[in-house]
Amino acid sequence: MNVRAHVSMLFHLDKCIGCHTCSVACKNLWTDRKGTEYMWWNNVETRPGTGYPTGWEDQERFQGGWERRGNQLELKLHSRPKGLANLFFNPALPELDDYYEPFTFRYQDLFNSPEGNDQPVARPVSMITGEPMNIEAGPNWDDDLGGSNLYAQNDPSWDGVDEGILAQMGEIERVVFNYLPRICNHCLNPSCVAACPSGAIYKRAEDGVVLVNENKCKGWRMCVAACPYKKVFYNWATGKSEKCILCFPRMETGQAPACAHSCVGRIRYMGVLLYDADKIPAAAMVDDEHLVSSHLDVILDPFDPEVIAAAKAGGLDEGWIKAAQESPVYKFVKVWGLALPLHPEYRTMAMMYYIPPLSPIVSTIERGLVRLELPPEKVDFELFNHLEKARLPLKYLANLFAAGNVEVIKPILQKMLAVRILKRKQSVEGAVDTATLKLLESVRLDLETAEAIYRLTTLPTLEQRFVLPPYHREMATEAWNDPLAHKGEVGVGTIELPVRGN
Ligand code: SF4
Ligand code: SF4
Repeated sequence: MNVRAHVSMLFHLDKCIGCHTCSVACKNLWTDRKGTEYMWWNNVETRPGTGYPTGWEDQERFQGGWERRGNQLELKLHSRPKGLANLFFNPALPELDDYYEPFTFRYQDLFNSPEGNDQPVARPVSMITGEPMNIEAGPNWDDDLGGSNLYAQNDPSWDGVDEGILAQMGEIERVVFNYLPRICNHCLNPSCVAACPSGAIYKRAEDGVVLVNENKCKGWRMCVAACPYKKVFYNWATGKSEKCILCFPRMETGQAPACAHSCVGRIRYMGVLLYDADKIPAAAMVDDEHLVSSHLDVILDPFDPEVIAAAKAGGLDEGWIKAAQESPVYKFVKVWGLALPLHPEYRTMAMMYYIPPLSPIVSTIERGLVRLELPPEKVDFELFNHLEKARLPLKYLANLFAAGNVEVIKPILQKMLAVRILKRKQSVEGAVDTATLKLLESVRLDLETAEAIYRLTTLPTLEQRFVLPPYHREMATEAWNDPLAHKGEVGVGTIELPVRGN
């Protein structure tokens, strides 16, 4: 057993309100520099939709992640020798139009225009050329259904969803959506690291954060193509690749990443997971049906004396083991079995986790009106028994979080519904009936666990949401530098100003 520690984030999708505060917090902190205008290390997508960069899940086009070839796991992009032979040829890269041409507005025209009969306007201008432009795309172009017929139908996660359901999704009465916040997944088996010909990307030993060493990066951009989540970006001004750094300088001073700290819906949780590094190669090789279980099997029980002994033998300090025991991520992922990695079929073993969202059941439509013939307290019961009638099809959620395996998604949604029904009974009716207790039992929950899930979901304090390990980086050289003085330098593995071509 090779025990290591990983700092992970969990997203409770049932709580995300799509306010984009997280994205703005991240952008202000890390990507407000020249060459990074189009980069959103954190973005929030409306689903169903095509996301950002548009259609990023289309791996036939973008060639991200891993695939099994015989008994080998190889990059979908290319094998290593082929990668070196094709160093100057990488057709799988997204283009600027797949992201969007970054723009601003000529605000000074509002103040400096000469007096006239017309109201002055601030014309949009390209942030790359400075020339006036027509805005035809943006990072949230399909936000809250903008152009939904076009975008939602092109969502690759519809694969295998019943044609009839698909045909109805565009109808206004059936319309449903949820938000999907995304950052780099700081994967256990990162394809970006494997694809880099310069060895510039690495996974930090102490906490699993995946970083680009800007001194080593030569701008080959193999990482951009190989990351199936499209979370490595190319800085056109410095000629280097950049990506989410999980706000490691914040974490090293005991603060949660900016996106998590600023989250208005309080949907984000941070915590340590212990994992067995020896199990990774086998876990990434299993067939699609078993990908989720083999992935979760790599995560270890931090209370198990054998795990603790192996962790200590491997040099992990007490504080990290304690943080793993108190980790809200561990509770949601392993103890309660409520959270899943995004697109496990990419086989990168993503270490950020998602609790899938609940959606209403399809109601009957009569004379153009939506009619739900049930009293509110019956709606959840109805949904519990007819989850396949949820407006967001189970197959769609399974394609996002379970490599298409509906049987993995269903019990999670049932557990969440059981907790909701219990709390409704307690707060509205003041008592819990036997039907509700049976319901809890059927999803293998007891009252105490259901209460704990409810508390951590709805009422957690800041300290319960963010259980960060005790870093000792204050002793490291980086801590001697004033972070503000080095802000323009991005600070990813370097304290020198990156220069194009170096
Ligand atoms: S999500 Fe992050 S760690 Fe995973 S492959 Fe992409 S850039 Fe690498
Ligand atoms: S800040 Fe939180 S609630 Fe708002 S969009 Fe981001 S993840 Fe969702």
